[in-house]
Amino acid sequence: MPAVILTGKEVADAMYASIKDKVKKLDPKLGILQIGDDPMSSAYVRQKIKSCEEIGMRHELIKVSEKIRFDELLTLIEELNRDPDITGFIMQLPLPAHLEKATPQIIRSITPMKDIDGFGAYNLGKIFLSTEFEHLPPATPGGVIQMLTHYGIGIEGKHAVIVGRSNIVGKPLAIMLLNRGATVTICHSQTPNLAAMTIQADILCCAVGSAHLIKAPMVKPGAVVIDIGITKNEEGITGDVDFENVQLIASAITPMPGGVGPTTVASLLRNCVRAKERQLELIHNKKLEEQADD
Ligand code: NDP
Repeated sequence: MPAVILTGKEVADAMYASIKDKVKKLDPKLGILQIGDDPMSSAYVRQKIKSCEEIGMRHELIKVSEKIRFDELLTLIEELNRDPDITGFIMQLPLPAHLEKATPQIIRSITPMKDIDGFGAYNLGKIFLSTEFEHLPPATPGGVIQMLTHYGIGIEGKHAVIVGRSNIVGKPLAIMLLNRGATVTICHSQTPNLAAMTIQADILCCAVGSAHLIKAPMVKPGAVVIDIGITKNEEGITGDVDFENVQLIASAITPMPGGVGPTTVASLLRNCVRAKERQLELIHNKKLEEQADD
């Protein structure tokens, strides 16, 4: 039987349908902080803005010179942290070379309440607790989980193998699958025999950025294959998975492009709605406390 093609747009549309009423009622606003004019970053920013426009979410692009100094950037982030009109904001990565090393420090300066990319230690730490605390999960793992859920792919009791251990994709995805009852193996560049690991996967998720790293003989027949990696080359955009051959043995597979990408954006916008809900809840609780003090 041919593999089911897991379509990102279908999943993203369902996610947008589920938050559309809340967007209208709560009126959250997404901020996008972009430094410089990197063409890839600009393309990702345009996608986010387009999705905001489609679902009627307010948004603001704050674009600054690539020459911005570290201290100036921290001041700008602090202004966004304090701006009551901005519900949540993201720092479009990667940062220019002179700021790249400071990326963790810059991410840390975003207040957890507005960290809708879920890259900061507070929101990342929360996902270690249980699904209940996955309030603002990183957008890509959030999108992958939604992809599996949407297509009715069970996670509990499955062996999930993740290739890639970054703090924003591989590791949080591993934890979120673990939270849902999968047995999880994480592979990386120092894994001695990658194929020996990937062949065991019921659910194989690849987040490396190495074109066609995963070939058909590395995949268990009937596995679900989620391709997250992106390599831009002369052929256009290529995933980590040799789609043409792997689709012949997988039970379900994401294409690249058209797979995980749209769910990442939808997950980000969903986080913005969740951030607004939590902020309103805190305001409400504070008012109740003040009334009790009176
Ligand atoms: P990183 O570069 O931070 O991480 C890549 C990971 O791959 C590292 O853990 C690295 O191992 C591992 N790796 C590298 N080479 C190999 C190898 N030969 N075998 C096994 N593992 C290897 O990238 P990100 O996690 O940020 O992103 C991963 C990919 O996903 C990228 O291509 C990125 O563009 C894409 N992406 C796609 C998104 C989407 O929406 N579709 C969203 C976010 C990212 P080590 O740690 O040992 O170096």
